[in-house]
Amino acid sequence: MQENNRLIIFDLDGTLYEDTHHFDYYAKKLCEKLNEPKRKLFTHDYQAVLEGKHPLKMGTIFDVEKDLILTQDHGMVTYACTWEGEPLEQENVEKLYPSTLNFDFHSMLNIGDLWWVPAAIARHYGITNQYAECSFIETREYMMSPRFQMKEVPDFKQVLRQLAIHSKLILLTNSPKRDSEVLLSKLGFQHLFDKKIFDGKKPMKTKDHLRMIKESYQVEYNQILSIGDNAINEISPAKELGCQTILIDPHGISVPSQADRIVRNLTELVDILKQISQS
Ligand SMILES: [Mg+2]
Repeated sequence: MQENNRLIIFDLDGTLYEDTHHFDYYAKKLCEKLNEPKRKLFTHDYQAVLEGKHPLKMGTIFDVEKDLILTQDHGMVTYACTWEGEPLEQENVEKLYPSTLNFDFHSMLNIGDLWWVPAAIARHYGITNQYAECSFIETREYMMSPRFQMKEVPDFKQVLRQLAIHSKLILLTNSPKRDSEVLLSKLGFQHLFDKKIFDGKKPMKTKDHLRMIKESYQVEYNQILSIGDNAINEISPAKELGCQTILIDPHGISVPSQADRIVRNLTELVDILKQISQS
């Protein structure tokens, strides 16, 4: 990894903090919108997914309309099974998915981070997109409240301050401005960023943002470092343009070639950032 990063772009959720208890809250809010028999099934499946005992796993795709769990390689479906784990014949897989997948975040869900686990289970049990959105907003409200306590990652703030001396730090998140600003304040990171982009619409718009950032700061792509916990949103598009990348992969679902550096948690990320800040 080159150490001449003049711009460092950070995702927010799962990248600047690694708390996960809000996902349980989100699951609870989704579950409340189901009728009693389905609530039990939802809770059972949510636990099973978290324990790795369900066909829906991190890194898989959920096709809401066909109610199938998919495995993909470069956008092509290589394996499909039912919610219960019954595999489809290869012939049927090819018939159903003749071309590359299009992740639209409504009918084709990429289980790339923990937000999508409760969301996919909810969709399986018939919760509409609108109700899911409503539960998401309730969860963001909870995260803004003092009830949502965030764990401090040792030395994170210090190393960001250090980096901000010689590099520009930029926030690029899909989350809305209102609650993101509250989370940044809770973390004590609110003054560290030279530019903050909210509602970023990654991955569709990731490259557009990177192009604009490159132009406005007059740097080359190889002087930009993109850091995030979602390979499809923050890593692949940046890598394709020639940026440096660090992927945070707490679930161990990535392959080594996906990013320049892959870490399992924020403590490991802080160690790399320290090396960069001292170089
Ligand atoms: Mg994230």
